[in-house]
Amino acid sequence: MPNSLFTPPVYRFAPSPNGALHLGHALSALLNARFARETGGRLLLRLEDIDRARCRPEFERAIVEDLAWLGLTFEAPVRRQSDHFADYETALDHLKARGLVYPAFLTRGEIRAHVAAIEAGGGTWPRDPDGAPLYPGPERTWDTRRREDAVAAAEATGRPYAWRLDMEAARRAIDGPLTWQETGTRPTSGTDDPEGLAGTIAARPEAWGDVILSRPDAPSSYHLSVTVDDAVQGVTHVVRGQDLFHATAVHRLLQTLLDMPAPVYHHHRLVRGPDGRKLSKSQRDTGLAALRESGLSAAQVRALVL
Ligand code: GLU
Repeated sequence: MPNSLFTPPVYRFAPSPNGALHLGHALSALLNARFARETGGRLLLRLEDIDRARCRPEFERAIVEDLAWLGLTFEAPVRRQSDHFADYETALDHLKARGLVYPAFLTRGEIRAHVAAIEAGGGTWPRDPDGAPLYPGPERTWDTRRREDAVAAAEATGRPYAWRLDMEAARRAIDGPLTWQETGTRPTSGTDDPEGLAGTIAARPEAWGDVILSRPDAPSSYHLSVTVDDAVQGVTHVVRGQDLFHATAVHRLLQTLLDMPAPVYHHHRLVRGPDGRKLSKSQRDTGLAALRESGLSAAQVRALVL
């Protein structure tokens, strides 16, 4: 077959520059690079810096340095999400036009109080796979006029609000089952032990309720920007940690609503700290820079995680 007919698979490593990379990130980056190498694929780097309050240029510089130290090279240019807010807005406008999002005004404290009142009365309130209570959504039934007035008032007074996906309406807007192809492993509930269940996974986005897609202070959410970017960048294979396994259901839903292709997903095991806990960006001892300074070589890091 002539070479021009070969469309290479596209992989991406997508860290957020809100802290230092640790061994878990090294595993993600190295796996992406390995798969790209083995399949003649492309390897992209995307900096997920929509959270302007937590992301900093010095973390971005450190990420680039750590990846170079690991011996990884990525295609230029690197996509920085904060340069593409207009793309996310276009996607949100599309969902608005279809009546699938609504402006939501309850604060976190108000959501907590709502749930506490129900639980105090002996009732239960559903929680998402990360343990956060689902959004009660009193605004779901408002008519257009009331929504527009509430947004105008919020904008005038600086009151915070969010655009949320109307999960029920979104689910209804889709024909047939929602699934994804998984080549990695699924976390078992409560732990992250791999079950090794690759294959077709049934997506249950409703487990997340009415997710946030945008806020005036953060014009895109993780879910919206990751979905748009994977499509814009032509990503065919998403390789990332199991902590994002369940979030994939939301991404598949958004891809379907926005008429975007579905990548294949590979969720890999999480690297544990010496105490068995999930690594975090604040755990200095497992940070790549700290390990480098302590004399570990890139080859040793590769051997440790792969
Ligand atoms: N930016 C996300 C993180 O650092 C990863 C997003 C993804 O790979 O889809 O956890």
